[in-house]
Amino acid sequence: MLKCSLCIHDERTAKIKIVDGKPLCKECINYLAHKPDKEKIRAELEELMRKVDKAIVAFSGGKDSTVALYLAKDKYNVDVEAVMIDHGFMAREAIENAKRIAKHLEVPLTILHHDYSDIFREALLKGKSPCKKCSSRTMEKLRKYALRKGIKYIITGHELPFGHHPYRLMSNGIVQIRLLSLMSEEERFEILNKLPFKFPELAGYTTNCLILGPALRRYYEKHGYSFETRRIAALVRYGLINKEKALKKISKPEIPEEIEEKIYGKLGIIQSK
Ligand SMILES: [Zn+2]
Repeated sequence: MLKCSLCIHDERTAKIKIVDGKPLCKECINYLAHKPDKEKIRAELEELMRKVDKAIVAFSGGKDSTVALYLAKDKYNVDVEAVMIDHGFMAREAIENAKRIAKHLEVPLTILHHDYSDIFREALLKGKSPCKKCSSRTMEKLRKYALRKGIKYIITGHELPFGHHPYRLMSNGIVQIRLLSLMSEEERFEILNKLPFKFPELAGYTTNCLILGPALRRYYEKHGYSFETRRIAALVRYGLINKEKALKKISKPEIPEEIEEKIYGKLGIIQSK
């Protein structure tokens, strides 16, 4: 099976072509032909952040949004409110991290409770990824919240795996800022080490979500690869994470049976054995 020589795609997850004797996936070929200007993207982000005085930080209590909250508050001196959308399957450790970090950074924390069982049930039953639907519902709820509060900016801990701008215009003039655009894993860990962030031991390479592990496993069983492959491949292509770590992140997760049973039970799914 051909494997891309630059990222982690192989023939199962992307079209691979031989270019100058080397196998490359379609996305890497496209990347090499239109390489994003990293300096330009970073400069654009800096310029935008100079304008931001007040913002909401989409705060999940996970490692990336913790880094985003720290940067917004301490590096850019933004008047921030951390807002967590608890979708009903947040890890207890993530909620504890959120409270501890917000207190440490002296940032007000608002937790909004919404039930996303419908999204998670469908994903697990059909062997699909819940992430896109979950993330867009969360962004929509945050957009409405920002609008009610008269705040224009929503800062998130997203990276920039695709596209060329570190921000996204949402409706009603709200702007999402991907504050971790082009930031490497190492840089993130340097910041986390300065903060009272405790790494939870969760299945599924996540620091906040209880659904990701079981969803990854179910998807893996159905398709033979991880639904995170495309996003992680982009991080490798950009040089933000090394291949070894990336391959570990897209391997099939081990999940203790009792934890999985609890989640399926909470969603009212009866598993056939
Ligand atoms: Zn590739």
